[in-house]
Amino acid sequence: MSLIKTQGIVIGRRALGERDRLVTFYTRELGKLSGVARGARRGRSRFGAALELFTWGELVAFEPAQRDLVRIDHFDVHRPFQALREDLERLGQGAAMVEALARLTAERDPHPALFGLLLRGLRALERGSPRRVHLAFTLRLLDLLGHRPRLDRCLGCRRPVGAGAWSFDATQGRLACARCRAEGALPLSTPALATLRRLQTSSWEERLATPLAPAAGRELEGLLERYLAALIGSALRVPRFIAQTRAVARRGP
Ligand SMILES: [Zn+2]
Repeated sequence: MSLIKTQGIVIGRRALGERDRLVTFYTRELGKLSGVARGARRGRSRFGAALELFTWGELVAFEPAQRDLVRIDHFDVHRPFQALREDLERLGQGAAMVEALARLTAERDPHPALFGLLLRGLRALERGSPRRVHLAFTLRLLDLLGHRPRLDRCLGCRRPVGAGAWSFDATQGRLACARCRAEGALPLSTPALATLRRLQTSSWEERLATPLAPAAGRELEGLLERYLAALIGSALRVPRFIAQTRAVARRGP
């Protein structure tokens, strides 16, 4: 049995039987890592409330000899990010960020820059505009994983992006002009395309400070959601949940 000790952030959790919990972390040293927290579902568990979504801490776990699921021994909280769980919009955007990271990465594929990005994203989400933080996070996530969308020229005729109607082809992560556009490509308004191109070449701080018109924000959110779904091979669950929550909020109680 070997010992694992690393910083980690809780990115998923579910019940395992009546007493235990299966918890997934994104760790600095090992990337995504799932383990069993024995007794975590009991009222007086020694883990207390430490294993909540978004919680950042120091993880100590044991790895059984057969490379089965690791056994979580300790999780000492650095920061619980509790405020993110108490605000529906922040919770939704944070959960969407975490879902994208979880589904685009494999277990035990170390990528310390992704850990840094997640921590920075959660910190920014505590005080910044949730939609802008989500967008900044997703663009950086795509960069770090080598999936940066190509926004400079048409995927067919290679014409540089300029005036006219442009669409985003989510299966290729590239833009298409009106002539080369394939069926299913997502039409982009001129303001949304200009905003996306500007955001892509901006720094993290600039992205968080860039004003985002609601219509362009919605368009870009939809575009990135489609692109992530194409990369993963299935739709993300959390963005659909956010859309439903917003629809209920608009209708009122
Ligand atoms: Zn073209």
